[in-house]
Amino acid sequence: MSSSAYRPSRYVSASRLKVSFEFFPPKNEEMEQTLWESVERLAPLNPSFVSVTYGAGGSTRERTHATVSRIVKETALKPAAHLTCVAATKDQVNEVIRDYWAAGVRHIVALRGDPVGGVGTAYTSHPGGYEGSPELIAGIKAIGDFEVSVSAYPEMHPESGSVERDIEMLKRKVDAGATRAITQFFFDNDLYLRYLDRVRAAGINIPIVPGIVPVQNFKQTAGFAARTGASIPDWLAKRFEGLENDPATRKLIAASVAAEQALDLVDRGITEFHFYTMNRADLVYAVCHLLGMRPEAAAAKAEAA
Ligand SMILES: Cc1cc2nc3c(=O)[nH]c(=O)nc-3n(C[C@H](O)[C@H](O)[C@H](O)COP(=O)(O)OP(=O)(O)OC[C@H]3O[C@@H](n4cnc5c(N)ncnc54)[C@H](O)[C@@H]3O)c2cc1C
Repeated sequence: MSSSAYRPSRYVSASRLKVSFEFFPPKNEEMEQTLWESVERLAPLNPSFVSVTYGAGGSTRERTHATVSRIVKETALKPAAHLTCVAATKDQVNEVIRDYWAAGVRHIVALRGDPVGGVGTAYTSHPGGYEGSPELIAGIKAIGDFEVSVSAYPEMHPESGSVERDIEMLKRKVDAGATRAITQFFFDNDLYLRYLDRVRAAGINIPIVPGIVPVQNFKQTAGFAARTGASIPDWLAKRFEGLENDPATRKLIAASVAAEQALDLVDRGITEFHFYTMNRADLVYAVCHLLGMRPEAAAAKAEAA
């Protein structure tokens, strides 16, 4: 796009944009402090919700619950608790769901989860457990009128085998009651927009919110991408080339890459974003600022809602 071209992202009203932030439950006191500092920094941007992940195999069951409950008690934010089917019976998962309802949580991100043997091994459902995400969603809905978000994969989940099967699964999740999908992170916006076209052509009309990850650590992100089937474009690798021992420049590059991606999506009509914060506020805050979001405006918008 030439510099003189009209770019809607330069003029979009932040009041038209919606953002949500994802955190993971902290493992120790130091991480807990970092998390809460980040929550406090990002809260004034009035996100639609903030979500808290569930460790592989349910390993963070208590910590996820504790983090979500603290968000309910100490902030005005709307939390969404991630939940998987892995390594638990239906009764155990239902107990977690009921505990969330009792704690005032009304939004769950429902996932099948990774195989117990790790990514790349075959998935088998737990004996007496939920078979997969559509069954989990139905179970959640039977317990309470939760809002349910689910995952979506612009580059297809590695186990799907084909984009058609992948989108078929998304449809099953919507039919079971999901009203929002959040995508795996991606770096090539064309991939996401092509996926969106295919999802809409399949008759799926829920929001498919792009998941944006500011690359705090390129090596780690590339490793994670390799396991989850997300591609790392050559140009992205080049941008972080030679910065292994230069955290300050890395941070600037990470913010500029994420901002460029989000602004391009706004230029192409996207108005809702989910940020994988990695429990750090600074990059996400900077990108939101570039999107025109300001704490005062967010407060006014929250009051008017
Ligand atoms: C936004 C988001 C949030 C996430 N949060 C968490 C989290 O908090 N904790 C966590 O542990 N993980 C999380 N994950 C990762 C997720 O658990 C893994 O990607 C997991 O492998 C699939 O779970 P799902 O709900 O996405 O699967 P689904 O959407 O149910 O399925 C994914 C694909 O796998 C195929 N598939 C499903 N079941 C089978 C089967 N039995 N055999 C063959 N193919 C099958 C389907 O074709 C489907 O398209 C998250 C992912 C995303 C995108």
